[in-house]
Amino acid sequence: MKLESKTVHIGVCTDYTGAISTPIYQSATFRHPALGQSTGFDYTRSQNPTRKVLEEGIAVLEEGVAGYAFASGMAAVTAVLMLYKQGDHLIVVEDCYGGTYRVVDKVFSQFGLTVTFVDGSNLEEVTQAIQPNTKAILIETPTNPLMKIVDIKAIIELAKAANAHSIVDNTFLTPYFQRPLALGADLVLHSGTKYLAGHNDLVCGLVVAREAELAEKVKYIQNSTGAILSPNDSWLLMRSIKTLALRMEKHNANALAVAAWLAQHPAVCQVYYPGLPDHPGKHIHDAQASGYGGMLSFTVNTAEKAAALLEKVQLIRFAESLGGVETLITLPAVQTHADVPVAVRERLGISDRLLRLSVGIEAVEDIIADLARALQ
Ligand SMILES: *Cc1c(COP(=O)(O)O)cnc(C)c1O
Repeated sequence: MKLESKTVHIGVCTDYTGAISTPIYQSATFRHPALGQSTGFDYTRSQNPTRKVLEEGIAVLEEGVAGYAFASGMAAVTAVLMLYKQGDHLIVVEDCYGGTYRVVDKVFSQFGLTVTFVDGSNLEEVTQAIQPNTKAILIETPTNPLMKIVDIKAIIELAKAANAHSIVDNTFLTPYFQRPLALGADLVLHSGTKYLAGHNDLVCGLVVAREAELAEKVKYIQNSTGAILSPNDSWLLMRSIKTLALRMEKHNANALAVAAWLAQHPAVCQVYYPGLPDHPGKHIHDAQASGYGGMLSFTVNTAEKAAALLEKVQLIRFAESLGGVETLITLPAVQTHADVPVAVRERLGISDRLLRLSVGIEAVEDIIADLARALQ
């Protein structure tokens, strides 16, 4: 089956009632048939019937053996980091999500995990960063907010050779455009808050494992630490995923048009979008993904212009987050990436002239007209 058919049928109920939509099992606990027996459900932190359908569904979409749903993307990232122990070393792409940078750098460092942040698009640098105690390489591609492309297959090979896990945060492209587990990655994680939920109304996270052994470990951490997604939010996320294919196609088409328009605008210095013909990672991206997604970044000539733009947009909302149907704009240096050290931000080019746009599914003419007015 094609992915768009799989997404539509996520959460289609198969119980005795004939209900099409999976019910929300709003129950914390479950009655045991007899001593030593279970219906498969004992307590909702361990497993809930609604969450189970979602978890099985995301595993199908990402082509893994099992999926796990968490209360936020950061809870999913945290659960994955808990697979490692004191003395272990991780390699993480340096322009990752700001919250991922923060939790590795400031929280897990307290428990003796060490990390090297690398330019994931520079395989030589990644290779140099590998140490005898390296246990995982965590990448995002395209990266946030500079839309660099990381070669997933090459990272998987490097990780394998080092006996380390390869982990891909697939939030930006979703399984609709990119399926890292099918390429051989060990784990995929998501901020489901973004494209999977897609409506800026839900905070959630997901982890999917390629093999049973690692899946069991994630499940153990999920149950032990308890940052599970509620039955109600699990249902909402399934409801959203049903339209994922339609939304991703429109985000992609709109972003392609907006990127091309920005690239020829005199007040715009540079546009970062892997769908543009001159993007340095385009050939790698095209080999591992089937679309470019709805995220792009661009620089304007002065910081004043960037600040003015944020105030002048009307249809486009000045807000953090991404992946929803509404077009949003932010200034990563001050907002999403404020926790990345200034020196790192400057070296990367996350300046006060860099704006990040999450292109929504409005009529593209309206998005462009709003940008044109605000850039004047
Ligand atoms: C938003 C985001 C996260 C964190 O997810 P939350 O749902 O906000 O906790 C992690 N990774 C990426 C790429 C993100 O965009």
